[in-house]
Amino acid sequence: MDHFLYRDGILHAEDVPLPEIAAEVGTPFYCYSVATLTRHFRLFDEALAGTDHLVCYAVKANSNLAVLKLMGDLGAGVDVVSGGEYRRAIAAGIPGERVVFSGVGKTREEMRLALQGGIRQFNVESEPEMAALNEVALSLGVVAPIAVRVNPDVDAQTHEKIATGKSENKFGIPIARAREVYAHAAALPGLDVVGIDVHIGSQLTSLEPFEAAYTKVGDLCRMLRADGHDIRRLDLGGGLGIPYEGRSNSRPPLPVEYGHMIQRVLGDLDCEIEIEPGRLIAGNAGILVTRVIYVKEGEGRTFLIVDAAMNDLVRPAMYSAHHDIVPVVEPTPDTVEGPYDIVGPVCETGDTFAKARPMPPLAEGDLVAFRSAGAYGAVMASEYNTRPLIPEVLVSGDHVAVIRGRPSFDDILNRDTIPEWL
Ligand SMILES: *Cc1c(COP(=O)(O)O)cnc(C)c1O
Repeated sequence: MDHFLYRDGILHAEDVPLPEIAAEVGTPFYCYSVATLTRHFRLFDEALAGTDHLVCYAVKANSNLAVLKLMGDLGAGVDVVSGGEYRRAIAAGIPGERVVFSGVGKTREEMRLALQGGIRQFNVESEPEMAALNEVALSLGVVAPIAVRVNPDVDAQTHEKIATGKSENKFGIPIARAREVYAHAAALPGLDVVGIDVHIGSQLTSLEPFEAAYTKVGDLCRMLRADGHDIRRLDLGGGLGIPYEGRSNSRPPLPVEYGHMIQRVLGDLDCEIEIEPGRLIAGNAGILVTRVIYVKEGEGRTFLIVDAAMNDLVRPAMYSAHHDIVPVVEPTPDTVEGPYDIVGPVCETGDTFAKARPMPPLAEGDLVAFRSAGAYGAVMASEYNTRPLIPEVLVSGDHVAVIRGRPSFDDILNRDTIPEWL
């Protein structure tokens, strides 16, 4: 459920008609709903009610400071995967004790930053990283709390580019070697082993792979405790998928079902549970609004050329992802839909959002909205073709705010330098 609905024939973001925002900020733009973000966070928080837990929003899904501030105010922790994301979390007012640091390639500099600024735990992904973190912590005279990310060798049954829990993926240490690695960690004086971490992939549409992975984590927890480790926290990662196709009958499991499964599989361990959802919180809380530049008749097809492109929303080009695309003016029930190839202006054939997509008749200047664009949208954007990053707008009730403005062409050109010797 989200808060982008037609009212009086016009698509709104909460109480605000989208054409009003388009007139104010220009197209294309991202628009996020506070009500939807809030609702999605609470669904997870309530799904784990009764269990000691922290929902650590995955910053990489949508890292705008306003979104992070909202999450922090709701009581969320965050999962960051770079020093830059760590800085964002702190700048948004999230206390270091609620920040978890994940990622396969943390640098010593990033470790120092987080150890000095405050950190809940590092999710360590390799032995060389463990050794480096130990050294950095000792050099600062502190102890770094860690969980070791284990790779459970479970098939997440998702797109290969976002599957992370198979043995051939770069993530975590093989679960079969976990006891050895934990023994090594326990011997390092700069580290405090607090838990186990796992994250098997993104856009999972079934609970089965999660349950398979979490069962292995539960077994490992018992084994490690028997070995003398004080395992008190389980970080179960993110990955729960969202419905991208409104017309499809299948739907991914709900957060409440996910939460019940977690409690059933791991509830007897008396561990604090962390989860790191990103996509489910932000995905359907955002849309991308774009304007039709031209309607072009091709050979046996009609192209809808819009002013958003693959540099603004790369998911269709990168993962062959589907986004529902809807007109901002609601079609009447008797409208006959025709197939359109919906494309952007970038000079790549991959700049195609949809092929033969049934849409009501559209004309130059019409607005359309890409749904489910709140996660892995703006954060993955680039300025390819020297197209400025597009604005992000946040709506709450009838409040509207630009939470990231569109850079000017001067801003963009001034980032480059022509050396004087050239
Ligand atoms: C990407 C990522 C997440 C969030 O995944 P979603 O599919 O957006 O829920 C959580 N944890 C880690 C370690 C990640 O890399």
